[in-house]
Amino acid sequence: MKVTLQNLTKTFPARGKGKKPVTAVDNFTLEIQDGELLALLGPSGCGKSTTLNLLCGLLEPSSGKLFFGDDDVTKLPAQNRGVGMVFQNYALYPHLTVEQNIRFPLENLKGKDRPTKEQMANKVKEAADLVQIGELLERKPSELSGGQQQRVAIARALVKMPRILLLDEPLSNLDARLRLQTREEIRRIQRATGITTVFVTHDQEEAMSISDRIVVMKDGLLHQAGKPQEVYDDPADLFVAKFLGTPPINTFDGQVKDGKLFLNGAAVLSCDAPDGDVVVAIRPEGFLPGEGSFICCVQRLEVMGRDTSLVCNCPCFTGEHFRVIIDSDDTQKVTGTSVSFGLKPGKVFLFDKETGCRIRCNLGE
Ligand code: ATP
Repeated sequence: MKVTLQNLTKTFPARGKGKKPVTAVDNFTLEIQDGELLALLGPSGCGKSTTLNLLCGLLEPSSGKLFFGDDDVTKLPAQNRGVGMVFQNYALYPHLTVEQNIRFPLENLKGKDRPTKEQMANKVKEAADLVQIGELLERKPSELSGGQQQRVAIARALVKMPRILLLDEPLSNLDARLRLQTREEIRRIQRATGITTVFVTHDQEEAMSISDRIVVMKDGLLHQAGKPQEVYDDPADLFVAKFLGTPPINTFDGQVKDGKLFLNGAAVLSCDAPDGDVVVAIRPEGFLPGEGSFICCVQRLEVMGRDTSLVCNCPCFTGEHFRVIIDSDDTQKVTGTSVSFGLKPGKVFLFDKETGCRIRCNLGE
């Protein structure tokens, strides 16, 4: 099912004297393709959950339209939208067994939509098998691990074969190992069912690892949508560049002059941007030790198996220190505390100092 968000806006009224209304989702326009797994990604308060609630019908937009396929569902009540929803806290009924929890949405169906007892049993079994909890149907939620409970919640969302599956931070309550395992599971289940899925997270690694596309949001605004690697390799603005990547991108005060980019007063790359002060953002893997004119002070060297992490500083860095990731084989090129780096042009991005907008230009060695 294709989903179209057209200039969708949600403003909550001001609460209390002197308070302003909050625009949680601001003129949001996006087309989600049939069968796509899309992650809404952004910091706390950026409007992810509000967007999800607009999709499922728990909230009505202040303006804009929402389409499922060609159907305008903007005003359609939540129960008629055919949406399955999974929440961070699982929201299972503690007094019901796994089987009863999964069956619950079917029991609520009325009239001709209500399956027979036998059909219900088949659907429950199918959904439980899909999330691989077929053996646990007789247990109560309290007798399950967090990961198993989340699988039950997913099975319950899938049992009616929804047109769209919405997942709101579904992995937040799981420990690190289970998070990894469950996110792979979600990917597998989504592939197996082909249901258009929107997944909300503030964890960029999670979003990048399982999504077909990510949407990066801030303050209710869509900053960039694209395939994870494309957004990482070609960020639209400084916020997106900083939000994606661990260790994070490093930002420096730089200057463009006469076709060259300067850092610490040294020309580091050729550059066809207009002359002026710029923010230079460089991915940690964008540095070539011993090969250029960007001189930094290496404070510490941490060998992490295949890679080595260098903790560096230099006068033009915007914070205290930054991390450079190099191949462990290149560690012998780091001698002493003062190291000159070359830069990989594809890992360097320029941004406007005032607006944070990307300055698109050609950079070269
Ligand atoms: P988190 O990751 O912390 O869940 P989020 O990105 O999902 O955050 P939302 O919950 O969508 O963000 O909230 C977006 C903004 O809208 C926030 O500033 C929040 O305080 C505000 N907001 C959300 N719901 C309401 C409401 N019912 N009334 C007033 N303001 C609200």
